[in-house]
Amino acid sequence: MLKLKGIAASSGIVIGKAYCLGKDDFSVIKRKISYEEISREIYRLEEALIDTRKEIVTIQDKISKELGFSEAKIFEAHLLVLEDRVLIEEVIKQIKNKKVNVEFAFSRSINKYTETLLGFDDKYLKERAADIKDIGKRVLKKLLKKDTPRAYEVKEKVIIVAHDLSPAETAALPKDKIIGFATDIGGSTSHTAIIARTLGIPAVVGLDVATKHIVCDETIIVDGYQGVVIVRPQERTIKSYYKKSEQILKAEKTINISRALKPRTIDGKETIVSANIEFPEELPLVKHFGAEGIGLYRTEYIFLGKNKLPSEEEQFKAYLNVARTVKPSSVIIRTIDIGGDKFLSRPEMPHEFTPFLGWRAIRFCLARPDIFKVQLRAILRASIEKNIRIMFPMISGISELREAKKLLDSCRRELKKEGKRFDDDIKIGVMIEVPSAALTADILAKECDFFSIGTNDLIQYSLAVDRANEKVAYLYEPAHPAVLRLIKDVIVSAHKNNIWVGMCGEMAGEFLFAFLLLGLGLDRLSMPPPRIPKIKELIRKVKLSDAKEAASNVINFSTSVEIEKYLQDYLRAILKGDSRQLLGI
Ligand code: PEP
Ligand code: MG
Repeated sequence: MLKLKGIAASSGIVIGKAYCLGKDDFSVIKRKISYEEISREIYRLEEALIDTRKEIVTIQDKISKELGFSEAKIFEAHLLVLEDRVLIEEVIKQIKNKKVNVEFAFSRSINKYTETLLGFDDKYLKERAADIKDIGKRVLKKLLKKDTPRAYEVKEKVIIVAHDLSPAETAALPKDKIIGFATDIGGSTSHTAIIARTLGIPAVVGLDVATKHIVCDETIIVDGYQGVVIVRPQERTIKSYYKKSEQILKAEKTINISRALKPRTIDGKETIVSANIEFPEELPLVKHFGAEGIGLYRTEYIFLGKNKLPSEEEQFKAYLNVARTVKPSSVIIRTIDIGGDKFLSRPEMPHEFTPFLGWRAIRFCLARPDIFKVQLRAILRASIEKNIRIMFPMISGISELREAKKLLDSCRRELKKEGKRFDDDIKIGVMIEVPSAALTADILAKECDFFSIGTNDLIQYSLAVDRANEKVAYLYEPAHPAVLRLIKDVIVSAHKNNIWVGMCGEMAGEFLFAFLLLGLGLDRLSMPPPRIPKIKELIRKVKLSDAKEAASNVINFSTSVEIEKYLQDYLRAILKGDSRQLLGI
């Protein structure tokens, strides 16, 4: 039995079979071969090329059936590479003349090929380079016998064990089959953690060595409360975890009974608690967990893992569906937040050294009005339902907001000309997730209808801590005095300018912080749906006057440790025994 410690990313306990996704490690070692080995290496090359061809034809068939012939056609280029005699002859020449192993000869030739193509200032050739790189990986995998399973191939209920999961991979996961996550890297607000929380799947990230120690198909325990993964557990450990998980499920059931009740404090303050979603599959969770509409719809997931950008019509249908499903409540549609740790497939996005500080969200959208306007038009058209609000991510100052609104206006004019209807009074919100936006909230508040504080980013940018890096996760402190001061100032600026302010960062779904935020005067909270019943229960069990008192005290404390301890003790003192037990405080 082995106990691995990581970061608790999504609460819950699960015991199940590990499904290990490979690390895509294609390090190739150069080996000198003898004259007698030459024919064997050439045979291995041919075998790998044939196997890869079979693999691609199978994928092509599958995609053709599921998405249509034109989508499957992109693999034609891959197949052509496999038959490219110039490439094959080059590899064989190296094996014969230089007497090196096939893996080395092949990877060298592929690298030479792609580098040459990348050297041209031509979009088409650059795309071909990416195709060749991809096919090169597939062939190398065959040669190195690294036939790692892929996430979308999961057939039974499993716990995903991976070095990391790209957002595109996460988007393609068969969500009904995944019962847990354990990853080597990542922090509590990296995309895998957020999605696990939304789906209510236990997850531990930042384990560092999970893929090294966990073997596929063996039983593991993921404890998303403690941030622990137990590998090859003993029978009695399994039993004790089953017991623990039953107790937790019982408490959750009790809390869930009252999930439809309004979140109103004992002294009568009613707040709005809404849901964060990423995929249409998550829509049923909104009502199920008693959310009042959607406070954050992360639309970028429609764009990820696709070979083609979604059309205006596709997007219109997706947004309309969400708007209709949550009616009479509303949905805040956030325009695409691409970049950071979520990338479009090539060629739209180049490699960057510091992507979280780079071409991300509104910066990307303003630079690519061709992509942005398609989304804005689709959102506007769906707004005929009258319950859509639009929100811009990563605004760092008023100029960006003005530019985004200008583009929105030009979409309005276009639609009017085309005779297409939309909500004339659609409300516009700004995500406050960059310190410069928080510090100029008084300026921004005059030109928008609401704020939503995105603490996942606000924390990383104000404390200079990469949110997806487990090595610095200990510095990622939501209750850092600097963060609390920024939040407080944003709330004050919003209220002075008569607009409401919510929070859609993960901090809103943590009960200690939810209590504090209430006391700081925040108007709305939005969070992963499974968190909602507990937060609503907490709100119903406290007084706003207590929350205000606690907030006015902790705002003067020096460290997050002191702040969290104070809040914990405060809640313990004011909550009755049964509520304390139920909420696990
Ligand atoms: C945030 O930054 O708090 C947020 C909600 O946006 P995302 O997590 O998608 O960056
Ligand atoms: Mg953000």
